[in-house]
Amino acid sequence: MFALQFDQLDRQAELRTNPNQLRDLAQQDSSFIVPVHRQQLFTQGDNLLWLSWSQLQNQVGTIEDKHLIYLGQINLETGTKHYFSYRLTQPDDLIQQAENAELQGLRQLFPVLSEADSYLANVATGIEHWHNTHQYCGYCGHATYSKLAGFVRQCSNSDCSKEHYPRTDAAVICAITFEDKILLGRQAQWPEHRYSVIAGFVEPGESLEQAVAREANEEAGLTVSNIQYVGSQPWPFPQSLMTGFTAESSHPEIKLKDKELEHAAWFTRSEINELKESGQLILPYKYSISRTLIEQWRKH
Ligand SMILES: [Zn+2]
Repeated sequence: MFALQFDQLDRQAELRTNPNQLRDLAQQDSSFIVPVHRQQLFTQGDNLLWLSWSQLQNQVGTIEDKHLIYLGQINLETGTKHYFSYRLTQPDDLIQQAENAELQGLRQLFPVLSEADSYLANVATGIEHWHNTHQYCGYCGHATYSKLAGFVRQCSNSDCSKEHYPRTDAAVICAITFEDKILLGRQAQWPEHRYSVIAGFVEPGESLEQAVAREANEEAGLTVSNIQYVGSQPWPFPQSLMTGFTAESSHPEIKLKDKELEHAAWFTRSEINELKESGQLILPYKYSISRTLIEQWRKH
């Protein structure tokens, strides 16, 4: 239903406990490694730059286990392929050596990549971002190190030894309707004419539905009911899981209580069509859950 829903990646978590086996696996012809640098990936033309072990070795010299992350396997008709990512701390060498290689962010890449590559790119950049931001233990401040094929970082202080796991931030996004209208709002820093449905992060102790109700109230002063879960989408900017809902407002009065939005209003389907046509309304990015929620409502 949403983008980034590819379900053919078998993450093979049991392999993560055996670094020697993974290192052997990564060197096979059926294995591919995608270098990642600060949530950006390398492309050649419209394709992700997947490297073999020897190609990566030519680029970086020594391949270090601490930067190698096992993403999982995909079973294809032609056989099973294994996918890895590699945390690249010095991207310049690779840019200079690989012909026409460019570093690009996911927003530019999603429209051109295949379903499988979009999904793998999303996993690879998500885990890379987590490594970049968890170099130190949040309990004692000592350095952490990567283990379990990149899916755990452990504190190096023997008195602490705390294990840290990849984090995903839960967020809600909701298409709120009143009669035949949908609520769309915009933040001041967005491009001109860009509008979307409301969204926000889930706070500690809150259910997803409670977060929807709170955000509707804080951002637009609405009281909502009939909160229905629609689906979810990983949203790697930088590490969210967006959970999508629909809800109905009990009244049409809008009040921008927390000022997160600079403007919000109710739109009918025909108003959206007309404003889109004249360029006065730009809906969210095509691959986003927000756009999907809006399009599902427009089709009804
Ligand atoms: Zn520690």
